[in-house]
Amino acid sequence: MKLKLVKGANEEILRTRCAEVLDFDSDLEKLVESMKKIMVKSRGVGIAAPQVDINARIFIFTKNVDREDVGNQIVEAINPVVLSASTDTILGEEGCLSLPGVYGNVRRPLECMVSYFNAKGEKITENLRGFDARVFLHELDHLNGVLFIDKLEDQIAM
Ligand SMILES: [Zn+2]
Repeated sequence: MKLKLVKGANEEILRTRCAEVLDFDSDLEKLVESMKKIMVKSRGVGIAAPQVDINARIFIFTKNVDREDVGNQIVEAINPVVLSASTDTILGEEGCLSLPGVYGNVRRPLECMVSYFNAKGEKITENLRGFDARVFLHELDHLNGVLFIDKLEDQIAM
């Protein structure tokens, strides 16, 4: 499956609330694999379906980016939800494959309990901390038509 990155803050697909995934079939597995490939090729740590012009609640995120003691893990999240989030927050720099050259600081919960399905339809519930939580929440925003620039506390560069 050949995917193309959608870029620009005003693209309609990036401003749309995406639909739940209903069918966990081989097409979904193929899409997930293609999304992982384009994310790695684009040197991103996360990518959401609307960023490849697909209206579906799917994203890919990389775990353990900020930990050198364990390897990175590239994971798909389908129909993801946040079950709870810490009141402790942290300001951190973000960028986005759909907004090249734009970086800025966004405040996010330090920790959150999340659940999602993998491409096989298995439900995963886990606690994410730090950068893992940040990537997850950034990608989840994409599924609701929200970009990180909507939440900037200060813009570093444009
Ligand atoms: Zn993004």
